[in-house]
Amino acid sequence: MFVGGGLAATLLLNELRPALPRRVAVLETWSPSERPPVHWSYWSLGATPYDGFAIGAWRRARVADARPEPIAPYALQLVRSTDVLAPMIEALRDLPIEWLRATARSIVRRSDGGYEVVSDAGTVRARWVFDSACEVVPAFPSPRRPRAVLSGTGLRVEADQPVFDAGVATLFDPLDERSFAYVLPLSSAEALVESASFGSTGVGEDRATLLRYLRAKHPKANFTVTHSEYGAIPLGFAPPRTVGPRHVLIGAKRGLVKPSAGYGVVRIAQESERLGRLWRQQSPLPPSRRAPWPWGLLDAGFVRLAIQDPRLPLALLSRVMHAIPLAQSLGFIEEQLSVRQLAPLLRSAAPIMLRKSR
Ligand SMILES: Cc1cc2nc3c(=O)[nH]c(=O)nc-3n(C[C@H](O)[C@H](O)[C@H](O)COP(=O)(O)OP(=O)(O)OC[C@H]3O[C@@H](n4cnc5c(N)ncnc54)[C@H](O)[C@@H]3O)c2cc1C
Repeated sequence: MFVGGGLAATLLLNELRPALPRRVAVLETWSPSERPPVHWSYWSLGATPYDGFAIGAWRRARVADARPEPIAPYALQLVRSTDVLAPMIEALRDLPIEWLRATARSIVRRSDGGYEVVSDAGTVRARWVFDSACEVVPAFPSPRRPRAVLSGTGLRVEADQPVFDAGVATLFDPLDERSFAYVLPLSSAEALVESASFGSTGVGEDRATLLRYLRAKHPKANFTVTHSEYGAIPLGFAPPRTVGPRHVLIGAKRGLVKPSAGYGVVRIAQESERLGRLWRQQSPLPPSRRAPWPWGLLDAGFVRLAIQDPRLPLALLSRVMHAIPLAQSLGFIEEQLSVRQLAPLLRSAAPIMLRKSR
């Protein structure tokens, strides 16, 4: 039984395909056509299942107004969620999967070792439960660890003249004290422009600030908005325990979204592949995931800053991103830095962390 049928469930179902049990059900509140498209950007070192759907790819980026830098060995890419999910869900059509449209309320372990998923449309029994429904207990983010939200607005815009450098992404351009902008150009006259803020709650949709930002950067151009989206991504840590050994957390609920960045889709794909491999080998599946040391510690510190004052994460990121090469900042997001490489990053972050603890 899959509780939640979004990205992680779709990827894992495709991984389980060669060893799928006789009966599988997916319980999901919304049908795929009701889920509006959102844009997912991601950094990767190697190939991902998303690359074939990319509408943009960048190998150079600049932080705010600084000079563009190569970001090798990373690539930044952009996909639309619906472009990724629709063909993957279609590929599952020939499998014996029951798609149940309902909202799960709770997951209970039975005395025979199986599980009951209680929903607003009835109760379903299952031997295994793969759970990506963050609000179902045990909830994500775990209330026992610090938790915050990354929220922002995304606009697809078209300019009436060439204004963007299509080969260069702009990252971390401050909009105000608590939010910053990304510009991902799709051509010289089209871009995805996004705002992002860390804090204890979402800031709400705000197109006006992004349009003001664009007009200030390109005063001679007129912009048309062709698409708008708003999202609040919960940041925090996975619940340490599940209802039982065959209740397996997946996706964001497994703690795969980096709390200090909000990126998660590449790790969700990598973990789906790993869980699929363990399943096919009939090896035990770890029900939850512990944040690895020292990343969990650093992420918890970052989330605490966001809760205390939404200006602090920005002050910290600004110091770090100006102090070390961009490719190293990306290494932090990917948790690919050695302790030696972490040292200058921690030195640049220290004044903000120390100010907070005073
Ligand atoms: C606007 C926006 C922009 C984003 N941009 C990026 C980005 O650029 N890069 C990036 O890495 N990530 C981004 N994300 C985050 C990314 O979408 C998530 O990390 C990813 O979708 C998590 O996958 P998942 O399967 O865990 O959750 P989801 O894909 O959200 O799937 C969970 C599913 O469970 C269903 N569900 C929830 N509760 C219940 C219930 N009680 N009963 C039944 N069904 C339930 C939901 O309807 C949903 O379909 C963005 C998110 C938003 C909203």
